[in-house]
Amino acid sequence: MTRERLYLFDTTLRDGAQTNGVDFTLQDKLAIAAMLDDLGIDYVEGGYPGANPTDTQLFSEDRRLETTFTAFGMTRRPGRSAANDPGLVALLDAEADAICFVAKSWDYHVRVALETTEEENIASIRDSVRAARAKGREVLLDCEHFFDGYKANPAYALACAEAAYQEGARWLVLCDTNGGTLPHEIEAIVGDVVKRIPGDHVGIHAHNDTEQAVANSLAAVRAGARQIQGTLNGLGERCGNANLVSIIPTLKLKPEFSRVFDIGVSDEKLKSLAHVSRTLDEMLNRAPNRHAPYVGQSAFATKAGIHASAILKEPATYEHVAPEAIGNRRKLLVSDQAGKSNVLAELDRIGIAVDRNDPRVTRLLDVVKEREAAGYAYEAADASFELLARRVLGKVPSFFDVTQFDVNVEQRINAKGERVTVSLAVVKVRVGDENLISAAEGNGPVNALDLALRKDLGKYQTYIAGLKLTDYRVRILNAGTEAVTRVLIESEDEKGEHWTTVGVSPNIIDASFQALMDSIVYKLIKAGAPA
Ligand SMILES: [Zn+2]
Repeated sequence: MTRERLYLFDTTLRDGAQTNGVDFTLQDKLAIAAMLDDLGIDYVEGGYPGANPTDTQLFSEDRRLETTFTAFGMTRRPGRSAANDPGLVALLDAEADAICFVAKSWDYHVRVALETTEEENIASIRDSVRAARAKGREVLLDCEHFFDGYKANPAYALACAEAAYQEGARWLVLCDTNGGTLPHEIEAIVGDVVKRIPGDHVGIHAHNDTEQAVANSLAAVRAGARQIQGTLNGLGERCGNANLVSIIPTLKLKPEFSRVFDIGVSDEKLKSLAHVSRTLDEMLNRAPNRHAPYVGQSAFATKAGIHASAILKEPATYEHVAPEAIGNRRKLLVSDQAGKSNVLAELDRIGIAVDRNDPRVTRLLDVVKEREAAGYAYEAADASFELLARRVLGKVPSFFDVTQFDVNVEQRINAKGERVTVSLAVVKVRVGDENLISAAEGNGPVNALDLALRKDLGKYQTYIAGLKLTDYRVRILNAGTEAVTRVLIESEDEKGEHWTTVGVSPNIIDASFQALMDSIVYKLIKAGAPA
């Protein structure tokens, strides 16, 4: 059976760039566009050429992308001709494969926001689409506030979309701009629209203000729309846009959609989705959402012992899809609730072969429980768990030994008369017969310690060259009688692999040191460094 083509349109670089605190550089935009292109996204909306220097520059770059690289902008202003509107001219001149115009489709907005007539708004849509077609561009029209407009005045909302369709626009994109429309309303309204405009020319652009942008996108597809607009990780202003990272696996892995539709993302590329999602967070310097559907670190994490033994026997019992399909992995949490099955499953995943009845397994479980009572959180720190397991089972080489460290925090007045705080760390390490000493300054004591520790590990230095810290979290806990500090450190290597380590101590520097050491030793083991 031939499947129908469903198109994906990414607007991370345009609508996603509206997210509070997100500010893409030209290099970021090029890197993200390349990543989306590689994933198989049909359309990548780059931004507004002519509206700001970064976007103008972006559209003049030699991008070499397969995707339909799309420029975004307004239709001609009311009361002007297309040739006489500098914004439109810049948009038409941009080196784009397609142009996505945004236009009002709610009569109320036409009167109040645009302060023009309904007829002039439609004339502006017609002229703009015609001008872009004359330039040989594929044209999309984002019908702003379409659903609210449709509820208020269906004839006018439809007339806006139809005007663009008649002038040769490839896609009429129905936007839930305020994000308040519910799935059943979307399905009903899109169902009406596709009676007038063929569904394979209709797109959906949903915002997440009722946390249903993904559901709304799928509802539109069920009603006949054949293009979905969204962003990576649901980036976007307010509550975000429809999250393509959730939509893509749903379309690929849920038979209701996968039997009927083809999308540009191959099964092979789907396996890179978790990585794509985390890479974007990395670029934005945000900690990934552990609970993100499909790609989050906890998306396939199971805690209770009885579930773990069932998962081992038959993964489908507790998993709605296979984690490997999106490049994620099953995680059986080792925690104070853990039964022996969790520990055995984790050991199996790590690749440590051990007999079920080996007394060391029971000992490991006891150590985990004891340390968790003291404040360690192994369910969050997979790499520290692996090291602990290897140690209890007698399998961690002693690569190096930190014989001494010293961290100094100093506040003083600098030459400009400003009060500054500087941290300096000195670390003495013994590697084999070599004694090494490194010093580093950092923006804080932990940063200085980390830099000094990783500065010179002698013969192991090449193994940790690509190691970097991506997240650092501190919590004060009450364990027993006194307060202790728990530090969780997330690290990444040159291959984009992530792991988390934990340290606990009444002293924050000491807790950080433990987590840093675990991270380095874990990396050396992963890299197969010789003992
Ligand atoms: Zn939007």
